[in-house]
Amino acid sequence: MKVRFGVDVGGTTIKIGLFDTTGELLEKRSIETDISNQGSNIIPDLVKAIQTFDIDLQHVQGIGVGVPGPVKDGLVYQAVNLGWHHYDVAKAIKTDWPYPVKVTVHNDANLAALGELMAGAAQDVKNLVFFTLGTGVGGGIVSDGKIIEGAHGAGGEIGHMRVGNKGFTCACGNIDCLETIASASGIKRLAAHYVQESNLPSRLRQESYYSAKYIFDLAMSGDPIAETIIEDVTDALAQATQILAVVADPDTFVFGGGVSRAGDFLIDKIRKKYQQIAFPTLRNIHFKVARLGNDAGIYGAFKSVYDED
Ligand SMILES: [Zn+2]
Repeated sequence: MKVRFGVDVGGTTIKIGLFDTTGELLEKRSIETDISNQGSNIIPDLVKAIQTFDIDLQHVQGIGVGVPGPVKDGLVYQAVNLGWHHYDVAKAIKTDWPYPVKVTVHNDANLAALGELMAGAAQDVKNLVFFTLGTGVGGGIVSDGKIIEGAHGAGGEIGHMRVGNKGFTCACGNIDCLETIASASGIKRLAAHYVQESNLPSRLRQESYYSAKYIFDLAMSGDPIAETIIEDVTDALAQATQILAVVADPDTFVFGGGVSRAGDFLIDKIRKKYQQIAFPTLRNIHFKVARLGNDAGIYGAFKSVYDED
């Protein structure tokens, strides 16, 4: 039986999915990411781990790989969390692999977008914008079934759209990026901001630590500061979707990552605000919560091998 692998290389773990050629996930494993020595052990560790699956290596048709950083034509420009800089992942895998094998390499959030399109919230769709609202904000744009990688591999870096108004500095060095508001760290920062700068009553004034989830729970119970934060988050996301709609004209927006666990409460608010400011032709774009969770990347990695046959 012919098989393919979908791999998602993260800063702490590497997820490896074994798929049949139709895209059925047969088995899934994780190994730790060894980021010592500028990440030079990562690919050898990955190749060893793949070789422990109970398969005939001659039957491996392809390996799709997602990495956290800009990728252009298979070359990883920079993956800060892994220590990689101008690194040819496909070449490294092929060097260690005993047979000819096809290897595709893409940005992890772009592959997560492709995964949601293949097996998640946006099946049978060809045009999609995916947001991952986690510690930061990442994303991917799929246009006519293809990832938009762009000229510098930074296509889909939608967390760095400038839609905030609080003057918060982003990890990228700019101010007011979407990520400074609509990520888990942004939400916590907004909480600290309103506890200090406003007179609004809030349970948050009695807490020394609060998670994004706790703030969502408080907002649902009517806590004034928590509600204000959720207004800011959904305002920023509505603005971002309004802009992306006229740029990419997607059929569907999909929201994944930890913050998206707030589910319909969050998505309905974004959609309503979006519809008030959307370009008229584009008011009825679908808004959906991602379905594949942390597996989106390995599905997308599989699909990238399949698509580039
Ligand atoms: Zn930024």
